[in-house]
Amino acid sequence: MIHRLDTPDLARAWCAEERGRGRSIGLIPTMGALHEGHFGLVRRAAEENDRVSVSVFVNPLQFNKAADFEDYRRDFDGDADLLAEHGCDMAFTGTLEQFFPGSEGLLENVPRVDPGPCAAGLEDVYRPGHFEGMATIVQRLFEVARPDRAYFGWKDFQQVLIAQDVGRRLGYTEVVGCSTSREAGGLARSSRNERLSDSQRVEALVIHRALCAARDLWSTGERRPGELAAAMRNVLEPSPLDVEYAAVRDPESWTGEEPAGPLERGVALIAGNLGTARLIDNLRLDEVP
Ligand code: AMP
Repeated sequence: MIHRLDTPDLARAWCAEERGRGRSIGLIPTMGALHEGHFGLVRRAAEENDRVSVSVFVNPLQFNKAADFEDYRRDFDGDADLLAEHGCDMAFTGTLEQFFPGSEGLLENVPRVDPGPCAAGLEDVYRPGHFEGMATIVQRLFEVARPDRAYFGWKDFQQVLIAQDVGRRLGYTEVVGCSTSREAGGLARSSRNERLSDSQRVEALVIHRALCAARDLWSTGERRPGELAAAMRNVLEPSPLDVEYAAVRDPESWTGEEPAGPLERGVALIAGNLGTARLIDNLRLDEVP
């Protein structure tokens, strides 16, 4: 049985009661339109916590394009039905005003949280303000649920680093990064994949091929980020993907700019647009598949 709560206040009370009974809580923040990538996080949380809560909130603070926000699929009841099948105990949602009382539901009235140094570069260049909006809702969700652990997908690499910083600052939530769930062929699962036509789904596989090219080059001993990025661009160049970035960073020492020297650890990251879908993905280069 899943509890469906439609305000953050009800969610706060539910979590407080569970905590009072000595139960640990795992939280998965989502924007709904759920798929297998989300369910993997739910299952992991169910293994590691007594209770699992999922927030479903299409956060207007983190969208750069009004059309992207408006087109986002919303179906709280449908999502809650699916969550029940995957071990979620409580799903909650709310309005902007309910999450940020006194804002009157106006974005400009919501006090923003500093996303910290891991927001610099890559995503931030193409989605200015996105991470500030994301950190703001993540902090609020942590304050509502006070989870022991919160689960985020490495698919959104910078987002995990920023959520980890938010968790550390608050001091009561450990942020756990979870591996990326992929379709056959390697396309990272994403709510935005719904916007791809059948032929675009095939074209989108170029992202994974490019990431694998960087990993293959890494395995030959190449450690210079510029060379690794060039290998990705060679694969991406003939494809219809409108590339925003194809870059390599040190995953454990984030820098907005490309690191100057050779790396000891590496993560390759790509973002691009295919039709109306913005796709992002990444791959650790220093981990054996
Ligand atoms: P979203 O609803 O897109 O905001 O995603 C909610 C959470 O699910 C975020 O932590 C995402 O990184 C994670 N997530 C989305 N897609 C995947 C995937 N394919 N594999 C793993 N985690 C994912």
